[in-house]
Parts: sequence; C-alpha cells; structure tokens
Amino acid sequence: MRAELVMVGTELLLGEIVDTNAVFLARNLADLGIDVYYKSTVGDNLGRIKEVLSRALSRSDLVIISGGLGPTEDDLTREAVSLVTSRPLEEDSEVVSWIENRFRERYGGAGMSPNNRKQALFPAGSAVLHNALGTAPGFWLEDEGKIVVALPGVARELEAMFSAEVLPRLRGRNLGETLLIRNLHFAGIGESSLAQLLEDLVAGQTNPTVALYASEGTVRVRLAAKAASREQAWEMIAPLEEEITSRAGDYFYGTDFQSLEEVVAKACLSRGLTLAVAESCTGGLIAHRLTNIPGSSGYFRRGYVVYTNEAKIDDLGVKPSTLATFTAYSPETAREMAEGVRRRAQSDLGLAVTGIAGPGGGTPEQPVGLAYIGLASPENTIVQKHFWKGSREQIKERLACAALQLLWRTVRERQSD
Ligand code: ATP
Ligand code: MG
Repeated sequence: MRAELVMVGTELLLGEIVDTNAVFLARNLADLGIDVYYKSTVGDNLGRIKEVLSRALSRSDLVIISGGLGPTEDDLTREAVSLVTSRPLEEDSEVVSWIENRFRERYGGAGMSPNNRKQALFPAGSAVLHNALGTAPGFWLEDEGKIVVALPGVARELEAMFSAEVLPRLRGRNLGETLLIRNLHFAGIGESSLAQLLEDLVAGQTNPTVALYASEGTVRVRLAAKAASREQAWEMIAPLEEEITSRAGDYFYGTDFQSLEEVVAKACLSRGLTLAVAESCTGGLIAHRLTNIPGSSGYFRRGYVVYTNEAKIDDLGVKPSTLATFTAYSPETAREMAEGVRRRAQSDLGLAVTGIAGPGGGTPEQPVGLAYIGLASPENTIVQKHFWKGSREQIKERLACAALQLLWRTVRERQSD
C-alpha cells in the first residue's frame, strides 16, 4: 500500500508552526509497513487543496489529510474532498446532536452557531471518525479503490484520532507486510568513519536497508527489514546487527530507545560505582541528563555548576594558582575540578567539564568551542581536550555528550564489584 500525506494550513507554509503531524503520521505508517512516497503541504485555498488531492489520489492508495476540518471559512478540507471525489456533502444527524450536546454542556444555554453545524457535513459514503478531544470529527472515505482519511490539525486531536480510529482500520486491512526497524547507537566514532567500517553492508542494500544518521556526538544506524511477519523480519535483522556490532563493538552502546545516560546509569549501578559532577560551560546539562533516568540517586551523589573562579576554588578546591597560571579553560583546571568534586562528594568517580561556549569570550589561543573534560577515579585522572565549531547550544550539547561518552567508556572497562 502506498500512502501520501497532505498537510493543510497556511500557517505551515509561513513557517509559523512546525509540522509535527507529518512526523507523527510518517512514523506510524512506517511502523505499519506502509510506504509513504509523497508528502505535500498546501495553504488554506480550495483550488490548491483540490489540485494536491487529485494528484495524490492519482498515484497513492491511501491519502491522509491533516487540518482544515474546523468550523471557519478557511477550513476547506471537507469541500475539497467532496469536489475531488464528486461526492456531495451530507449532514450526519448523529454528529449534529453530538455537537449540540457538547455546546449545551460547555456553554449552558448558548446554542451552536451555523458554522459549527458545518462540522457535521461529510462527503457521501464517509465513515465518521470521532474526536474525543475536540469538536471537529474526521472521516474515512473509500472511493474507487482509494482511501481518503481526514484528520483535525490540532496535534493532540490528530494523534488521538489516528490511534483510536485509523490505526485499527489500517491493521484490519491485512497489509501483507510489516516493516521492522531496529536502531543501533554508537558513540566516540564519527559518521564517516563508521560508514567506512560498514561500507560493504551499506552499499547496494535494499532489504534490510542500512542507514546512518549523526546527531550531536553520536551516530545511529537504522536497520529496516520488510517481511511477511515480524518473526521473519527479525531473522533478517539479527545477523546484520551481529555483524555491525562486532565490527564496531568498541563504539556500540545501545539499541532502539536506549540513551547514553541510561547505559551509564546501568553500568554504574551494576558495578556499585558512585559519581559526582562539576560543570562549567554545560550549566547542569550533564547532571540533568543523568538524573532523567529513574533510580539515578542510586549512584549520582551530587552536581555543581561552577562558573566563576571563586566557585571553582570554594566548591571544588581548585588552586587559585592553577587558575591564575593556566586559566579556567585548561587541562590543569579540568583535572583539579574532577579530583576536587570526587573528593568533596566522596564518590568513586568525579566528572568535570570546562570550556568556552561563546559566542563571546574567545581569544586566538583559547577560541570559542575549546573544552576540557576531566574524569577522576581511584586510580587516575583522565583529561580530554575537545574543540568544536558551533552555536552556544551546540557546544554545550556536544560537551555534555562527550563527557557522558568518556564516562561510559571508563565505567564499562571497570570490573563489577
Ligand atoms: P480547528 O478545529 O482547530 O480549526 P482544524 O482541523 O481546522 O482544527 P487547522 O485549522 O488546520 O485544523 O489547524 C488547527 C491548529 O492545529 C493550528 O493552529 C496548529 O496549531 C495545529 N496544526 C495544524 N496543522 C499542524 C501540523 N501539520 N502539525 C502540527 N500542528 C498543526
Ligand atoms: Mg481550522
């Protein structure tokens, strides 16, 4: 089955809102194994919506429309579907009384306006899709072997209606195939180096497909297999996953929705290691990410956000002479911060970061994007230097990610107690 998305709304074309509905629909259709070949965005204009819809119906089996179902003048989806399929709009009496009741409950005596009555009109032959969260119902229409589904634009309503009303109908169609997606996560290796390691596996593949995606400091490899059943798809994915993780095992940290912080938490807890963190530059981001994982108080002792020299001296015991001689952005300071936070918290590990997030404050010797990570353990202290180009936020993200990676690689190598 080939699907196509039609996103209706001038707001989308003006860049005023982000098209999260398309993301939601695309992901859900992919999970069902339905191919999405096209996605169009069109403004609130009857002629153009009709144009986009007829093209969609000429080349796709399933057309899902988002938005334009409300009661106002610029809500044109029902009219456009009616005109394109030559099916007149008919009033659904159940929906009329449902809307009337809703108005009575909400607004007491005040009745509904003729505009709201418009929301009870559907192209002849449609099945009404109830809206549990709002007034605008959607509809499912089968016309000449094609399916048209119209959903409200409001994201919560679209998601609820899709899950409750559309998903079961699509599942009931026996689509014949499922698509299984498996994500493998890697840290400490760049996208191009990983691509090189996997070159022969990525080249020429069709089923399963292998694709690499890089984000701040980590790389995701997505495997997708299409098969008649989930079991068969798993059988296709498993050997490929094994091959990939054995080639790049040094960098592999998790699958699917596992995050680096979750893996770090598990590794610390299973080894009985405690941790404290001192952050300059990342403003608490590392502590925030680590403590997003439930149960983190089992190993995370404390975190400091230390921006001034005084804070580094008072809270962590960094020597004033170190700061005077080498500055706050130096391997020496990172080392003393890591050792200091470990000592103050009496933890097994002390993690510290310091760097220049910019946009101001850089010099030729110490440019924006320069950062150091220190990691103190009972045996030694490791210091890493990094340099990234990017916005303030990107540098903070990358530094937090690099610090979590160093932590992960160090903890991983330690024996369990
Ligand atoms: P309403 O009854 O509220 O008019 P509607 O079905 O007519 O709903 P629209 O008028 O197109 O839908 O959009 C309503 C609101 O939903 C928009 O203001 C916007 O906030 C949100 N929205 C619309 N389209 C999208 C989209 N593609 N992704 C995310 N949000 C969207
Ligand atoms: Mg609207």
